[in-house]
Amino acid sequence: MHKVVIIGGGIAGILAATHLGRHLKGSASTSVLLIDHNFAHVWKPMLHTFAAGTANYSTQSFSFAPLAKRNGIDYWPGELCGLDRERKTVELGPITLPDGRSELPGRSIPYDTLVLAIGSHSNDFHTPGVSEHCYFMDDVGQAQTLNAAIRSETIRNMDAGEETGVVIIGGGATGVELAAELTRRTQIFAGYVSKASTPRLRITLIETGPRLLAAFPEKISRAVEEKLTKLGVDVRTRTKVVGADVHGVSIEGGQRIDTPLRVWAAGVKAPPVAAKLGRLDINRKGQIAVRPTLQTKDDDSVFALGDCASFTGADGRPLPTTAQVARQQGLFLARSLARHITGNQPLDEFKFHDMGSLVALGDYAAYGSLGAHGFLHGALIKGWLAKVGHASLYRMHQIDLNGLMRGSVGWLADDLTKMARPPIRLDCSVIPARRCEDH
Ligand SMILES: Cc1cc2nc3c(=O)[nH]c(=O)nc-3n(C[C@H](O)[C@H](O)[C@H](O)COP(=O)(O)OP(=O)(O)OC[C@H]3O[C@@H](n4cnc5c(N)ncnc54)[C@H](O)[C@@H]3O)c2cc1C
Repeated sequence: MHKVVIIGGGIAGILAATHLGRHLKGSASTSVLLIDHNFAHVWKPMLHTFAAGTANYSTQSFSFAPLAKRNGIDYWPGELCGLDRERKTVELGPITLPDGRSELPGRSIPYDTLVLAIGSHSNDFHTPGVSEHCYFMDDVGQAQTLNAAIRSETIRNMDAGEETGVVIIGGGATGVELAAELTRRTQIFAGYVSKASTPRLRITLIETGPRLLAAFPEKISRAVEEKLTKLGVDVRTRTKVVGADVHGVSIEGGQRIDTPLRVWAAGVKAPPVAAKLGRLDINRKGQIAVRPTLQTKDDDSVFALGDCASFTGADGRPLPTTAQVARQQGLFLARSLARHITGNQPLDEFKFHDMGSLVALGDYAAYGSLGAHGFLHGALIKGWLAKVGHASLYRMHQIDLNGLMRGSVGWLADDLTKMARPPIRLDCSVIPARRCEDH
């Protein structure tokens, strides 16, 4: 039995695992085990909507166990903590179970082929106070924590008749999309309450570089900055946050912005565990260096893909950390590995097809640049075409994951749910009741 172990069920890992399972269906000589420290898959580019409360985690997540069953693979919850390349085992640390108290003990899992797809985190560049005093949006838990803080702060300020300040550090797609989504959330919320207690939000979006969305063409950066400014966001480029504390953030030059809602959405680095994996070659962002086959530079049996991998593209530059790269690599590796393991064929070499990039400002606007491939390569798009393009990225993912029929039903179910529920999350957390005598 050839054992394939895939760690990380994000965009790259879940596609590699489920599609490998489909390619191998019926093969008695290969098993596929997916391991993730969460119990469900989420489309990470949605995290800012969970944070804003404009999308709901419970309806937009896919439990690993049924996904695994449907695709003929196994799933086990576990936290990757180490790798023994000589013994060919991955070391899983204990994980906390849903009651928040008990634990699943750690263990060693043997593999013949190992696929690492553990994603990335934002990078605080060792800025003092940031890791302790800022909110992050690297996973669902952090997005939910930020959402709870935003809801609490908004209610407190409405009661006091004050404005809620939010400072977002990082003018890439994550920061820009969060700023727009929070604006949208506040407008929707304002429609539910009386004029006397209307929630007011003051968002400051800070970017160190000379423009927002550095990875996009300059024209899109300008259009996005104009649109956000029109929506009331205070956009500050060429501005560097040099510290954070319990009251706010400090800016180079001595200025301060004081607010309890400080969100760090800048930079990218691999999870720290990547540096502890059997001395695999990593770059300065901690990403694992891979060859064109997606095998790590040091070990033929260990592959890495998605955000945690550093792959040099045709132009000699590393590929960006995007959903598009993760998707293409996940689907590619499933095909290539299946042929290699069952048909003894040589591994294929991955080639990235740049289909362009899209950014959406909530429901207000969307912009995109078409990639190097296709008829209109390099063209810029905006308006409904860009909005439909952006929305269809997630829909395509649902279909990649669940097949055309189930994926389309999921899409329809989403639209029906939207009709039946308020468009923003207003409650959902169960707050223990307190009696008057408890006060
Ligand atoms: C708010 C936000 C908005 C974004 N918007 C866009 C966008 O519009 N377009 C775009 O192209 N990209 C966007 N991105 C980037 C995109 O989400 C990532 O590039 C993509 O998710 C990378 O896929 P991945 O599979 O490598 O990692 P992920 O999707 O992050 O998956 C990693 C998986 O590994 C698991 N894992 C991590 N560590 C461990 C461990 N130690 N043990 C076990 N499991 C582990 C995690 O639970 C997760 O399931 C956005 C990102 C964010 C945060």
